[in-house]
Amino acid sequence: MYDNKKVVIIGTGFVGMSCAYSLLNQNACDELVLIDINSEKARGEAMDLNHSLAFSPAEMKIYSGKYSDCRDADIIVIAAGVNQKEGETRIDLLKRNKNVFQSIIQPVIDSGFEGIFLIATNPVDIMSYITKDLSGFDKSKVIGTGTSLDTARLRYLLGHFLDISPKNIHAYVLGEHGDSEMITWSQATAGTKPILSICKDSLALEKIANDVKYAANEIIKAKNATYYGIGMALVRIIKAILNNENSIITVSAYLDGEFGFRGIYAGVPSVINRDGVREIVEIKFADNEFCKFTESCNFLKSTIDKIKN
Ligand code: NAD
Repeated sequence: MYDNKKVVIIGTGFVGMSCAYSLLNQNACDELVLIDINSEKARGEAMDLNHSLAFSPAEMKIYSGKYSDCRDADIIVIAAGVNQKEGETRIDLLKRNKNVFQSIIQPVIDSGFEGIFLIATNPVDIMSYITKDLSGFDKSKVIGTGTSLDTARLRYLLGHFLDISPKNIHAYVLGEHGDSEMITWSQATAGTKPILSICKDSLALEKIANDVKYAANEIIKAKNATYYGIGMALVRIIKAILNNENSIITVSAYLDGEFGFRGIYAGVPSVINRDGVREIVEIKFADNEFCKFTESCNFLKSTIDKIKN
């Protein structure tokens, strides 16, 4: 039987539409539905994308839709919400975005949707937790983009520094997608070589870590929002799901005892396939790294405790 790969994007702003445009250019699905509280915006975006089909590698059906269109979707991407302002922390966004999610998740559930939620809205680890809580879905079916973008930034910056393609850099940013995120330097390699053995310049590595952490602030300062990177990160995760890849990506996944944490979402290396998160890959941290990862998870736990009360 023909397997129609269907993706719905809720929130057709910069992030949602960067995802849509990347899906189209990478021919990543067969049907793409756009939903926004501003239905005119979604309608105009669908028209604009449809006008590029003649030049695209894809035969994609694209339209602006309603929540009832979510019923037979494979993946719902949520990129709806308010954007991070200069100087505003991701946690500051939480209250406003929680209200937005309350108005989205229920109509999606009412449609009969049984696929996978993929969350981009910030603070993404907390919004993923809220989605799991509001939907009642299994932990494997609610995924956040987590530190996938931060990991891509690290791979780019390390590759640039070492003059090696980012595709051959294996290095991970874990924990919160935000200020408490951390890098597992002890596990980082360029091809077969450990980064710590080929680069003795600890100040340079520290600068790279800071540039990764503050990249979003820097971009927001320059152009008000970040979207191409996250659009591509979303498509990377979508392809891993739709093509049943079993790829390891640092998404935000629900910790259920892994690394000693339970009941939070955090960026961790996870095996992604048609069922969502198949499993979380545990890491042997260096001692100082485990402390940083624990601090980051404790911060996420305390934020969740605040929204529960
Ligand atoms: P944007 O303002 O351009 O778009 C947001 C869209 O959401 C708007 O079109 C708006 O109409 C829509 N929306 C608002 N309330 C809605 C509702 N109740 N129902 C449906 N649609 C609704 O913002 P953006 O730049 O696209 O950013 C979107 C989110 O993505 C923000 O939370 C931002 O912080 C986050 N983001 C995440 C990452 C990441 O790594 N996870 C990276 C960049 C941005």
